Amino acid sequence: MNILMVAAECVPFVKTGGLADVVGTLPKYLKKKGHDVRIIIPKYRTIDGAKFGLESLPYKLSVFVGKEQENFRIKTCMLDGDIPVYFIENLRYFNRLGVYGDDSGIGYGDNRERFIFFSKAAIEATKALLFRPDIIHCHDWHTGLIPAYLKTVNLNDGFFWNTSTVYTIHNIAFQGSFDAASTLPMAGFSWEDYKSDKLEFYNTFNYMKAGLAYTDIISTVSPTYAKEIQGPAGKGMEVVLQTRKNDVFGILNGIDYSYWNPETDKNIVANFSAQDYSNKKLCKTALQEYCGFKQDENTFVIGSVGRFDMQKGFDLIMDVISKVVNQNIQIVILGSGDRYIKDTMLYLKSLYPDKLAVFTEYNEPLAHQIYAGADAFLMPSKFEPCGLSQIIALAYGTIPIVNKTGGLSDTIQDFSTNTLKGNGFVFDFYKGEQLEFAIWRAYDIYKNSFLWNRLISNAFACHYSWSQSVDEYEKMYKVAIDRKIADNIYNKNI
Ligand code: ADP
Repeated sequence: MNILMVAAECVPFVKTGGLADVVGTLPKYLKKKGHDVRIIIPKYRTIDGAKFGLESLPYKLSVFVGKEQENFRIKTCMLDGDIPVYFIENLRYFNRLGVYGDDSGIGYGDNRERFIFFSKAAIEATKALLFRPDIIHCHDWHTGLIPAYLKTVNLNDGFFWNTSTVYTIHNIAFQGSFDAASTLPMAGFSWEDYKSDKLEFYNTFNYMKAGLAYTDIISTVSPTYAKEIQGPAGKGMEVVLQTRKNDVFGILNGIDYSYWNPETDKNIVANFSAQDYSNKKLCKTALQEYCGFKQDENTFVIGSVGRFDMQKGFDLIMDVISKVVNQNIQIVILGSGDRYIKDTMLYLKSLYPDKLAVFTEYNEPLAHQIYAGADAFLMPSKFEPCGLSQIIALAYGTIPIVNKTGGLSDTIQDFSTNTLKGNGFVFDFYKGEQLEFAIWRAYDIYKNSFLWNRLISNAFACHYSWSQSVDEYEKMYKVAIDRKIADNIYNKNI
């Protein structure tokens, strides 16, 4: 199959969260199965052209955003030596420091124009490159307009006659909802398509709804989340998803175990493995030193890495910190995003400087050091489509403490002292006391080295790899292609 991924982020070029990990990793596994996979992302200013060896292609293209003609160029390089990545370069929209907004956590005022432009540019770039995809795989609201364009504005474009679309929801909380009166003409759609089963969404023009309404197949990143978003967790999209329930797939994300590998990780002070993790304690004392904590192997170190967003359970974390720091516990938190969370965490750190370390930045090496050096990993998300951080933590023998929601319930099972099964600590109700109780349970078990070592072995034994999920993606792409063939036959017959 010819598969084109279009997304706003992709590792190793640009990353704000798990979306980038998926877009940069799934293609490698599809490639191994013999598919021709390519990726299109924006060329943000922060993507270092020299470092990645970007080359300019000889096209000068343009699209309209409203009445403005926007020119763009395509740059390219190879991911992993054999996956072409194309970067859409336009100075007006992408030559800025942030991806979606500045560091205050507020989105750019022109995000609606930026992703109209990007969606149109991705379609034009595909044609210029003469890469005729069987599947265009779109990710999140930034690319929701692409399936809609292909079924409206570009409906009669023979280039895409055999192209099916798959639209993946990585987080339903971010939908790209805008005023219809100005956005519809700016995006170039006709008012005839502004109907409740198509572009209209509660009197707004919503990019995710556009994707969901027009795409051939919908997917999301875990089986549990696929069910949850058809109910109260759907953030308004539940009815749209219920109407298309036969087209909704839930496929668990994997992680790249060659990258997230404590045996070879260059960001940590000492390597270790599932068979011999004695060096994990060197990583722990190095982390304690970095945090300005007392270096003590016996102290229970809890780590957390994630976006500063209330979704990640920061209200519970803020609630619980003062209740647990009086024990032999140290907590290290790395995150960036929401200013309120950042300020509150820094305030808490000022209260407990010996027990709480807070780093308010995006810092890849430090993230590795936390995954490797902590004993437990805190991820009490209110909702979690899949979550990669808890899977990464398992790969480093670090025990997740999570709320039972979405992908967290698909990947983490509560440890039982009777059966000795389970790979973490799971609480059921989203409440501070529940999280606190889960931390106390973890702390108690940590003090029993037999039980804790058993838990570590259970964690290491878990493998959420793309080699399993890629087969499910392949099957889903085939369904999408069958739908498109049926559609073509049907449309030709009338
Ligand atoms: P989400 O996509 O909702 O942000 P995931 O758990 O799916 O959450 O993915 C988060 C990814 O981003 C993980 O790879 C995590 O290590 C990384 N990450 C998040 N925040 C930071 C940060 N401040 N510094 C380094 N890595 C981070």
